[in-house]
Amino acid sequence: MKPPICCICHDRLNDMDKSGLIYFKETEADKKWKKRMEDEGMVGHPPYADWFCEKHYQEAYKLKEMTKTEVLKILERK
Ligand SMILES: [Zn+2]
Repeated sequence: MKPPICCICHDRLNDMDKSGLIYFKETEADKKWKKRMEDEGMVGHPPYADWFCEKHYQEAYKLKEMTKTEVLKILERK
């Protein structure tokens, strides 16, 4: 697991009630990643999940039906 640092602004997460890890829609590449990790019995940070601070969590959560790449593009533009 990656350390809890916001993937948009790189702030350390303090308030875990208002911030946290969000799982986005899995792409084909993500599904392949998951299968590979399972096959090899490994555990890693899922490429379709990331940490969001309290400034970005709400907005990212609303977009969780999209892929992480799409969401990051939207949030980074702001
Ligand atoms: Zn942030």
